[in-house]
Amino acid sequence: MSALENISARPSFASFAPPSRTLMGPGPSDLAPRTLAALARPTIGHLDPAFVSMMDELKELLRYAFQTTNALTFPVSGPGSVGMETCFDNLVEPGDTVIVCRNGVFGGRMIENVQRAGGIAVIVDDTWGEPVDPQKVEDAFKANPQAKLLAFVHAETSTGARSDAQALAAIARRFGALTIVDAVTSLAGCELRVDDWGLDAVYSGSQKCLSCTPGLSPVTFSPAALARIQARKSKVQSWFMDLNLVLDYWNSAKRTYHHTAPINSLYGLHESLVQLAEEGIENAWARHARLHRMLRAGFEAMDLAFVVAEPWRLPQLNTVHIPADVNDADLRRQLLTDFNLEIGAGLGPLAGKVWRFGLMGHSCREGNILLCLEALATALTRQGRPADADAAFAAARRALAD
Ligand SMILES: *Cc1c(COP(=O)(O)O)cnc(C)c1O
Repeated sequence: MSALENISARPSFASFAPPSRTLMGPGPSDLAPRTLAALARPTIGHLDPAFVSMMDELKELLRYAFQTTNALTFPVSGPGSVGMETCFDNLVEPGDTVIVCRNGVFGGRMIENVQRAGGIAVIVDDTWGEPVDPQKVEDAFKANPQAKLLAFVHAETSTGARSDAQALAAIARRFGALTIVDAVTSLAGCELRVDDWGLDAVYSGSQKCLSCTPGLSPVTFSPAALARIQARKSKVQSWFMDLNLVLDYWNSAKRTYHHTAPINSLYGLHESLVQLAEEGIENAWARHARLHRMLRAGFEAMDLAFVVAEPWRLPQLNTVHIPADVNDADLRRQLLTDFNLEIGAGLGPLAGKVWRFGLMGHSCREGNILLCLEALATALTRQGRPADADAAFAAARRALAD
């Protein structure tokens, strides 16, 4: 049979039925039933007045999540990586010096973004698993007073370390620079206050602590960042991400067609943000912190050691060392096939050395932690590294009672 005959034959496939998993990796996280239901509502036109008013509510809800009054706050149509590029492509002009902090995978991506936008990256390196060192950032500004921007990751998902966004932004401000902040994993999972901390361009993602489907990137820009973008000497290289064009769609009464927004995904994001508003942002932060303590107690009862020191540990992303003589891939496969539980592997230099347990958004529930402790104890014991699930449960319950 020729290749052509082959493709003209009518293919026969059944509908795709995904297995039912519990998602405790670095994202995506579990979707709440309400969010899944919202995604399945009828698609309407993206310029339909009903949709346009939903877009306005979305911006309001995102301002609440980011704790900002920034007018320019909306979800970019694309995953967190597109939100990242939107910030860099709009704020970096050819020849600009940008100080970029790297203490994990995602800081490394920021360097790429600066260079591709024609900027000069001054790199401040810190050990993976540790926060960005403010003193090194201060020194980098002293050595490069012409720097126009400081870029850093608030919550490094590759390691589980949180950096002090407020302190870093204060240093940038003293040197007259704006900040670009990766808040993909931090938004709704731990304290993040865009206005109080003086952050300028912040991007996030829909599939981490917001527990929506991947593919949307909430962003927010301060008035100073917007002024910088509007005063650019050169055009933004990317047509799709040029905020000067996107604004007529998302942020003006004109609602001029720019691209077709991912309509149903935005229903989902709206629904997850409504749930966040019902819970209250501070209560959501507190829930992540409380359940992190529960998971930590269970892990410690199994003698699993955390990679990140206590003060900088992210509640929503728990990284532990893989015990000696345990096969990383086999264990994760067992969790998936026998317990329908997904956890995260290590990235880069941490590959094969750590596991990453996400407690993000709707995944951050007591029942998930009990499943995780049970599954992990069983799989470790099977690999000849005995772990006591009952002791882990007892410790976890005690931590909740404290
Ligand atoms: C997940 C993640 C990203 C990338 O988001 P995508 O939606 O996968 O493009 C960027 N930064 C951090 C810190 C992340 O955790």
